[in-house]
Amino acid sequence: MIIWCIGIILCFCNAGTFAASYAYDYNPGNSDARPEDWAQMDSPDNAQCGWANQSPIDLQTQFVSIQSRANSLSITNLRTMPENVVLTNVGHGAEISFEFANNDNMVVTGGPLNDQFIVAQAQWHWGTADCAGSEHMLNSQRYSAEVHIVTYNSKYASLGDAADKFDGLAVLGFLYELDDAAAPDFPSSVQGGLGGIPNAGDTTTVAPFALINLFRTEFFDYIAYSGSLTTPPCYQTVQWMVSTKPLKISSADLGALRSINDVNGSPLLRNFRPCQNSYSRALNGYYL
Ligand SMILES: [Zn+2]
Repeated sequence: MIIWCIGIILCFCNAGTFAASYAYDYNPGNSDARPEDWAQMDSPDNAQCGWANQSPIDLQTQFVSIQSRANSLSITNLRTMPENVVLTNVGHGAEISFEFANNDNMVVTGGPLNDQFIVAQAQWHWGTADCAGSEHMLNSQRYSAEVHIVTYNSKYASLGDAADKFDGLAVLGFLYELDDAAAPDFPSSVQGGLGGIPNAGDTTTVAPFALINLFRTEFFDYIAYSGSLTTPPCYQTVQWMVSTKPLKISSADLGALRSINDVNGSPLLRNFRPCQNSYSRALNGYYL
């Protein structure tokens, strides 16, 4: 009987540990874990969610300082077909990772980056309505969705190792606008694969595609600024580069994103963090 009780307790402890790592929420009705509560959540490292260099922000182009075009952004293996593209339901979103033969990487350099950054994964953010799901806003306009290509400084061993280092991360962000008429820029193999990852922790492989297929061209205007992870623990370690030219997404793509469940088993209808105060942060424009 005692052993049985201990077994039950351990089970609850494990469940609690799992839940704690996903404890944050986007539901305005959840008064303990919604975005405005993140900084006060019990987990030890979430205080940065309340600091002054948070993301996302409303990018106002009138305040952008135009930078030199000499040092343009470069991404290795951008057009190389990976062996596998792995799609995962991470409980608060959908992510993909790229696996190459010989453990090769995609490396981002140039622009505002002083080091080499290795592409780790890409993730999407969306909303309850087709018209509002992006995290960043552009001139006070919210877009339909946003994809983040998350990279880490190659001087660190892994994404996890780099995440809390001041020069650890760089993220490329692309906004999507709703357009059911044009060919969407959302990969069809991801749209199809979302049906195979209904629950948190589910993972599947989808028909491989090169990274370039996520944003069509490596020549794009973007605004760079210093900010944070947009999810707890909100580390202020991200060099953001957000494209100013929205991609196209269809209503069917957005519906597929909304069809996956969150860590509680409820449909994940939205996963964008509201814009944070920019406190007049420097915005640097890298325009073609
Ligand atoms: Zn993200």
